[in-house]
Amino acid sequence: MKYKPADRIQDLQYFGEFGGVNPSISDSSTYTFLSAKTMFDTFEGNAEGCYLYSRHSSPSNLYLGEALAAMEGTEAANVAASGMGAITSVLMQLCNAGDHIVCSRTIYGGTYAFLKNFAPKFGIETTFVDITNPLLVNEAIQKNTKLIYCESVSNPLLEVADLEALSNITKVHKLKLVVDNTFSPLSISPAKLGADVVIHSLTKFINGSSDTVGGVVCGTKEFINDLRNVNDGAAMLLGPTMDSLRAASILKNLRTLHIRMKQHSHNAMYLAHKFQEDGFKTVYPGLKSHPGHETFRKMMNESYGFGGMLTIDVGSLDKANELMELMQERNLGYLAVSLGFYKTLFSAPGTSTSSEIPIEEQKEMGLSDGLIRFSIGLDNDIARTYEMMKECMTKVGVMDTEMA
Ligand code: PLP
Repeated sequence: MKYKPADRIQDLQYFGEFGGVNPSISDSSTYTFLSAKTMFDTFEGNAEGCYLYSRHSSPSNLYLGEALAAMEGTEAANVAASGMGAITSVLMQLCNAGDHIVCSRTIYGGTYAFLKNFAPKFGIETTFVDITNPLLVNEAIQKNTKLIYCESVSNPLLEVADLEALSNITKVHKLKLVVDNTFSPLSISPAKLGADVVIHSLTKFINGSSDTVGGVVCGTKEFINDLRNVNDGAAMLLGPTMDSLRAASILKNLRTLHIRMKQHSHNAMYLAHKFQEDGFKTVYPGLKSHPGHETFRKMMNESYGFGGMLTIDVGSLDKANELMELMQERNLGYLAVSLGFYKTLFSAPGTSTSSEIPIEEQKEMGLSDGLIRFSIGLDNDIARTYEMMKECMTKVGVMDTEMA
């Protein structure tokens, strides 16, 4: 049967302690044992189904992890307190001092800062490359390279990584392919395309209500167990543990992810076409003009669309700021970082989410001053939203009204 990530989530059924339609929330940091021997076995990792201490695992976190593993088609998953908690523990788990990483040069600013400024303290070096060019990726591989790291759809430039091509490279060189799939949940299934580890910031589309941070690592049972190992597991020892109450609320929100993604994608596609027709330099993977359009199409689980993220360039930072402030005043969205909310969110990445990246490097990768990143919301009538946005664009003077 064709791979359908949302159906796999739907097929999971959990009940609460008293027959509740939602699983009970585990409100304990520690767990009792009837026998001391079972406690010892649990420490050793040999007592399936027993809980020890909630930094290690908790029933609520395991339910959410199971559902996310089902979504990504991996054997197992481990949830974390944030996307960065998931990313950093994976990298620290896979790399030792003296190892090397090949990484996309357009990635979330926090991940970039970790690799550029923090990982070198532990002897882990990174080469940043244009991930859309497999030749350059290949050339960057060294004897001590451990993994290739990328985002399926990159933050903020929305470059699309050809995951099958990258996975072929990692197989030849016996490396791991680690993919952050935060921008394209359900639409792209990296594990199906050869990724060894799939990461999400749950803070974004998956939770969808901008009320918590969270993260997840999806991979093989062996790798997830390694992360949780009491002796040398990065998740266990660095301690980026999600709270059970949060895990329970994210699981409930996950149940509507497929409906939300379809609406995010529908609205973003509508606006991207309109903005492009209006003459803006518009970047959206659903547009034929996007260099990664065909790659996305080849990889995608069709019914969820091309996602809710798009960028336009309005020429200068001043104009971008003026437009965003006016759109917020007119209640068309919020001037805020982050993404995946019911409301449209917009920000200028060069001065916000990607400000960790030095200006020269921003320029080199095509991150211009006037770039606005939109996370398109779930608006009921997107044509009406567009008309209101157009008024704002005309008012701040970035829309050529004759052209529009
Ligand atoms: N990955 C991507 C693609 C992101 O955009 C972000 C945050 O913006 C993160 C990871 C980090 O996630 P969190 O903020 O949940 O730690």
